[in-house]
Amino acid sequence: MGSAPILMYHAVDTLADPMNVQVFPARLRQQLRVLRRLGMRGVSVRELLAAPSHRERLVGLTFDDGYADFATTAAPILAEFGFTASVYVVAGRLDGTNEWDPPPRRPLMTADQLRQVHRAGHEVGSHGMWHTRLRDLPAARLTEELATSRQVLEDVVGAPVTGFCYPYGDARPEVAPLVREHYDYGCAVLSRSGHRWAMPRFHVDNGDDPMRLLAKIALWPVRQRRRPVAS
Ligand SMILES: [Zn+2]
Repeated sequence: MGSAPILMYHAVDTLADPMNVQVFPARLRQQLRVLRRLGMRGVSVRELLAAPSHRERLVGLTFDDGYADFATTAAPILAEFGFTASVYVVAGRLDGTNEWDPPPRRPLMTADQLRQVHRAGHEVGSHGMWHTRLRDLPAARLTEELATSRQVLEDVVGAPVTGFCYPYGDARPEVAPLVREHYDYGCAVLSRSGHRWAMPRFHVDNGDDPMRLLAKIALWPVRQRRRPVAS
């Protein structure tokens, strides 16, 4: 994976946003334009990991939680640029809402929307079964979060699901080996694990105008060295 940055998005909408998990559609388009101007191509994490290093400048694009606006808003904007992304879906909540957060309620993708974005070339990964922290879960619940969520999503899209994204980015060292049993890689947030089952990403939000986004990308290698391990 080298040191290619991986951007972490959530929703693409214009609702009230107390949790700071949203970019406006126009902001997303502006940010993708910045990446293109840098000569970067936005790809899913699966594609990033499979790419021969140094052949081309890649940036990982990820969208957590599987909001319906990924299908209706983000995917069409990504298509304008020829970019793909990974979308990490809460498998037990298809067609539900983000009940783990305070309002506003944001609708999550339906099974049909999931198939649609998979067909469009985006990677569908698991964000667990119910959006629960993995730490301290009993063994049976861990199996549900990791193995059952994968099975549910594979049944929907009819293809292997090989990526996992830790709910709340909580990739403690004791859970990464369990994720490794079920997935080819795992996305965290802050992480210096150095392995692909807890890869670091950086948060992008609506406040990231071109200057701020450029600064975040430029500082990415430095931040990786300085940041403490996720807790
Ligand atoms: Zn999440």
